[in-house]
Amino acid sequence: MNSSINTVTGTISPEQLGRTLMHEHVFVEYGGPSAEVLKPGRRHDEIVSICTDYLEQIRAFGVETLVDPTTVDLGRNVALLVELAGKTGFNIICATGIYSTATYERMRERLGGSPEAIAELFIKELTEGIADTGVKAGIIKVVTGAPMIDEEEHELLLAAAKASVATGAAIITHTEGILGDEQQLILTSAGVPAQRIVIGHSCLSRNFDYHMRILKSGSYLAFDRFGMTGMPDEVRAASMQKLIDAGRAAQIMVSHDSVWYWVGGPKIGSGAYKNWVPTNFFERVIPMLQYGGTTDDQIETMLRENPRRFFSGEKPRPVV
Ligand SMILES: [Zn+2]
Repeated sequence: MNSSINTVTGTISPEQLGRTLMHEHVFVEYGGPSAEVLKPGRRHDEIVSICTDYLEQIRAFGVETLVDPTTVDLGRNVALLVELAGKTGFNIICATGIYSTATYERMRERLGGSPEAIAELFIKELTEGIADTGVKAGIIKVVTGAPMIDEEEHELLLAAAKASVATGAAIITHTEGILGDEQQLILTSAGVPAQRIVIGHSCLSRNFDYHMRILKSGSYLAFDRFGMTGMPDEVRAASMQKLIDAGRAAQIMVSHDSVWYWVGGPKIGSGAYKNWVPTNFFERVIPMLQYGGTTDDQIETMLRENPRRFFSGEKPRPVV
């Protein structure tokens, strides 16, 4: 079992993770970071200052680790992540993976046309480093849309499974609130242990049976869009509370999927995006959960113990 975790500034042990937010984006730019944001100057300083400020804000709530599953085609900016981690001492875990099937098809073509080459690329980014940065990815990100998993998405899931089996790396997924159980089946059938998979954006579903199906098969669920528009946090919290009441706190992780600096995208923290900030879980959601009966211990389990178990590859704590 590979229990040392790649952060952008080196490896750490699962015990060093501390409280962890499982899915936040420091920086997003479709297609990759442009020269304009990479070159030193006012724009770059502004990005660093905004992101440092959010890291300090979540540190005040005891968070020590951030998983940033931004893929190359969403603008993964390794140099920025290294700079922020160095400046703040935060553990930042970045991802290999591909977001859109258009990118997948383009990259597969460029690498010779076979999905095998994509798996090799993921393995290289996990074991040798991303391009020539020397920075290793710490997790694999996969994506499926709706209403079904198409051929390219299926291929990509298998490439991710191959990379996970070869390296022991964990997998974090994007869903539209459906098909998480199918993702789980495809990945586990390809040899990935269920406990190495976290099914993302599970708060988009209010279907208790769907959630329980995934949990009973041994993976984790991420309620990772607290504060995002489209669904009130009260609804997400209520679905989560049902699972906690069913004894499943040991398989739930939380986050916001917030984007701190989004080139061409919305600015968080005001208007419709007022609550879509990485402190929202602590400021607004914990009180909702406490009102519903969630204990401090269960909150600590979701923030600290589950990420530790997930990254160490241990099975979730059994339901008692
Ligand atoms: Zn995301």
